[in-house]
Amino acid sequence: MINIEKDYALDQLNTFGMPVKAPYFSVIRERADCSSLAANAPEGLPVLILGGGSNMLFTQQPDKWVIKNEIKGIELIGEDETHIRLKVGAGEVWHEFVLYCIAHNYCGIENLALIPGTVGAAPIQNIGAYGVEVKQLITKVHYWDIEKETFDYLDNKDCRFGYRDSIFKQELKGKYIITEVEWQLSKTPSLNTSYGNIKEELDSRQITQPGIKDVAEAVIAIRSSKLPDPKVVGNAGSFFKNPEVKNEVYEAIRAQYSTAPGYKVGQDKTKIPAAWLIEQCNWKGFREGDAGVHPKQPLVLVNYGTASGTEIFELSTRIIASVEEKFGITLEREVQII
Ligand SMILES: Cc1cc2nc3c(=O)[nH]c(=O)nc-3n(C[C@H](O)[C@H](O)[C@H](O)COP(=O)(O)OP(=O)(O)OC[C@H]3O[C@@H](n4cnc5c(N)ncnc54)[C@H](O)[C@@H]3O)c2cc1C
Repeated sequence: MINIEKDYALDQLNTFGMPVKAPYFSVIRERADCSSLAANAPEGLPVLILGGGSNMLFTQQPDKWVIKNEIKGIELIGEDETHIRLKVGAGEVWHEFVLYCIAHNYCGIENLALIPGTVGAAPIQNIGAYGVEVKQLITKVHYWDIEKETFDYLDNKDCRFGYRDSIFKQELKGKYIITEVEWQLSKTPSLNTSYGNIKEELDSRQITQPGIKDVAEAVIAIRSSKLPDPKVVGNAGSFFKNPEVKNEVYEAIRAQYSTAPGYKVGQDKTKIPAAWLIEQCNWKGFREGDAGVHPKQPLVLVNYGTASGTEIFELSTRIIASVEEKFGITLEREVQII
């Protein structure tokens, strides 16, 4: 029997620290709990699934039955000479899963250390950092289909992974509860240290032959120095996606701003760091009341204390409008607006 609490405070359960309350709140701890949800839905309310609350902004009191996913477990389900396969409960804490892999010498995931949130949310926006995305490592995503009331799964190719995107953010949005994710990791390291400052960080530690633990520690050190800790200042990491524009659009910007950064994506497109665009519009370090743009990383919007979700959202709207006016590029929000 699933336990349901009323008027449950969520301020500690979302990294922006929004002081909202769930009209009804429950925790699911095993996949079997999913099958009893429909029969127990208070007032027939739809569900809102909560992982670590690190990619959402509450702009209003939620009018849904909030279900916190705490389905745990890490199971070794396959192994050959070069790879291992793991099935991991959606409620496992992401960073703890990364540390587990490092401790067991399972390679491939080390660049994704210290990303907040849960394993089950990782496929939803195909989390990525330092040149690695989870789409390179996921083999299957298991889920509960809320409408059909059945368990099902998608193979990697059917998840339609894209940059901070997947079928779970699009067609399947609101229709599923991810219960477990299957991973294929390598037994031998193939380190990716070319991205960001990983190499410099390793050099500064005089590590010439790094292992996966060294890479993870370098990533943790870089992230800790650049990104605000949500326990100290409310935030949800990058608020916007980096826009991909036609090469001509980028070249036109380059003609005006010779230092404009850009990275080729396929033949026709260039990805421009949203942080650079936002900084050019003078938002870096901006603060109005308790809503602000982080002084070190303008991609991160912050709640210095008592900013409301609406204030943060309105700030994001002003940023989008000014980038559009100056560069003709429309930034897209990465964070889920609730
Ligand atoms: C400081 C900081 C740094 C960050 N850095 C990065 C980064 O480097 N790269 C990156 O990609 N992201 C980053 N993020 C964003 C965030 O950590 C990820 O998107 C993470 O995967 C969110 O996990 P979560 O469990 O907190 O999801 P939540 O915020 O709880 O949920 C996000 C969305 O997924 C849905 N959801 C969650 N779990 C399930 C489930 N089991 N079934 C169905 N739906 C579900 C929710 O309903 C919601 O719509 C960062 C965030 C912070 C605060």
